[in-house]
This record gives sequence, structure tokens and C-alpha cells, in this order.
Amino acid sequence: MTQLTIEEERFLESNRVPFGAVLDANGLEKPDWRKLIRALEKWVIVGGLPCEKAGHTIRLRSGHCYQCGTSSPVFLLRKLNFTNLYIAGSSSGGFLKLGSSRDFKKNIETLNQHKYAGVDDWQVIIAYEVKGSEKIEFKTQRKIKRFFNPEYVRMGGRDIVCLDTFKCKFSRAKKALTDSLDNQSRLLFSDDSLEQSFESLVEKVLEEQKEREFVYLDTETTGVPAWENKIVEISIIDDEGNVLLDTLVNPEREIPEEATKIHGITNEMVKTYGTIEEFIPKINNLIRGKKLVIYNYDYDTEFFPDKLGQALEICCALRAYQSHMKIVKGSSLSNATNHIGYSWEGKAHRALADTRACRSVWRWLLEQDPEIEHTHSYL
Ligand SMILES: [Zn+2]
Repeated sequence: MTQLTIEEERFLESNRVPFGAVLDANGLEKPDWRKLIRALEKWVIVGGLPCEKAGHTIRLRSGHCYQCGTSSPVFLLRKLNFTNLYIAGSSSGGFLKLGSSRDFKKNIETLNQHKYAGVDDWQVIIAYEVKGSEKIEFKTQRKIKRFFNPEYVRMGGRDIVCLDTFKCKFSRAKKALTDSLDNQSRLLFSDDSLEQSFESLVEKVLEEQKEREFVYLDTETTGVPAWENKIVEISIIDDEGNVLLDTLVNPEREIPEEATKIHGITNEMVKTYGTIEEFIPKINNLIRGKKLVIYNYDYDTEFFPDKLGQALEICCALRAYQSHMKIVKGSSLSNATNHIGYSWEGKAHRALADTRACRSVWRWLLEQDPEIEHTHSYL
């Protein structure tokens, strides 16, 4: 399964390539992805073989390495600058998609034919004729980027990721699009009743997601302050307690003795692990659109470049606990677990054990006061 690495995402961003132009070719044979990329009117490939020269992972549809810069991406960009820009939706999937094409009607047919993002009920909700789609598409995407949530679809025996699907209120996506249009754009198609039905459909999906999806996170670090320290261990679990991620992390610096004394993690233990930057795409996929619960969120979020901004919201179990207990300062996680009578699984100050403890405190708090999540959520 391909997820964009942080380098890939940065490269696409800096070249202003919309997600809609990208095809995940992971596991597809060349003739297959060639056919697909033409049918879907995309022009960039990820998930293929790395380039021989420098191991780059983004290719143009000609097969040339995009990052080596030997071919002219500007030329390609212009060539594939379409005249139709639209927002489509799938009722069965409960998600939306931004798309560009020479002909939006034909494009939708192709999406359904190929079961793009795993569904075959794509419908165009609104479409514009524009002078050049790339710029507007990218601008729109930027405004609603945090709602993008890749859907996976089985193709050629592999999971292919569709990067251009998202979940937010239709009205919000529409506003992002219309705010990005220029005076050379004109409305091609719109349907009020479709707009309304997708408005409430996606809203409902988001509401349901909101109700159930808590995930919990904890990190161990080399110390404070965050700007000169790094993460050495991270865990994420879901609301049922399933472990979604539990790994040591290479901080690429010495772990001070005082820190090792707290969590027991040594330089030797972390040296074969990836860096936090390498784990971030995975972390983002786990927290995207979820309600993330952290015991003392001020501390952990600072260690992430985007402050874990992909989460739908971040709930602070410490602040909620303090307010429930009417204490102004302090209260360690072990104080809280003592108070609620939680018996620890694993050693305190290791990420997984702390994440589990955080989950039990949070669930206890919700039992005392279901409103607590709203009064202690941030982002
Ligand atoms: Zn290259």
C-alpha cells in the first residue's frame, strides 16, 4: 500500500501538483498503469520503481523521473491543464472528490467504470469551465487539505491509494472551489438537490465518525524543550485498545542519561529504527479525521512539525482530568490512574503503557461527564 512519504508530499506541494493528478502505480504492471493514467487523465505516478540515478520515487506519465528534472514538467503541466473542474461525490462511499478533465461527463463515466476509490456511483455535483484547471485545483485543495482522506481500492491484486478523495461538508468544498476561481471561469453544471443531498450525507458520515473514533497517542522523548529534542518512542491505539502503532524511533542524537532513567530507552535500542520524519506519513494516516486523545497534549504535539494537525481534533486528557477534579496544576498520569483504580499493563513511561493508561483515564472521564470531550478539545 502506498502512502505518500513526507518527501513526496513536499515535492508535489512545491511543484503545485494537485492530488488529483497523481496515480498510485504500486503493484501495477506498466501496460496497466499506462492505460489507467490515460483513462483517468492523470500525469504523475507514485509507487512505481525508484529512478536509477537517484532513487527518486515520483515519475511523469512518460515514465521519466519527475524529480531528476530532465524532462520538462512545465510543458506537461500546460498540456494537461484541463478546461473542466468539478466536485463529484459518491453516496455509497460518503466522500467527495475534486477532479479535472477535458470533459467532466466522460471523466465520471471512466471513474465508475474503473471503480475509482472502490465505488461506482460517482456523480458530478458541480462543474466549472475554467481557463486552466491546475492552478485552481491546487488552490482549492490547499484550502481543504486537512479533509483529504485517501481511499484504498483493490486493483491488480494490490491496494491502490486514491489521493484525491476527501470528507467535508459539500458547502465547504464548494466555497473553497468558488473562492479559487478567476474571472475566466464559468458555471457548467450544478444541481441544487444533489448539493443538498451531499451536504447532509457527508455531514452525517462525519457526525458518525465523530461519535466513535477516538485514537490515543503517547510519546517518549530525549527531553524538553521540544525544539531541541526528539521523539524516541511513539504509540497509537484505537478506542477498542487495538495497537495501531508502537515503535521505537531514532532521534538521531544522544539520549541523555536523565531521559533514559525515566523511560529506560537507550541509544543502543533505537539505532536501527526509522526517524520520526519517516513515521509521519503513517502517523498522519492513523490520526487523520479522528479525535486524538493525549495526556498533556501541550507536551506531545510540540514534537511534531505540523502539531498533529491532521487529526479532526485533539482532546487533552490531562486538562479534562484537572478540570473534573478541580485542580489547577499538576497531576501525573500515574496520579490519575491511581485515582480511577486502573492497574497498569506494562511499565509506566513507556509509550504503549502510557497510551493505554491515557485511554482508561479518558474513558473514565467520559463516564463521569460525556460533555468533557467538547470542553477540552483543541485544533
Ligand atoms: Zn530521479
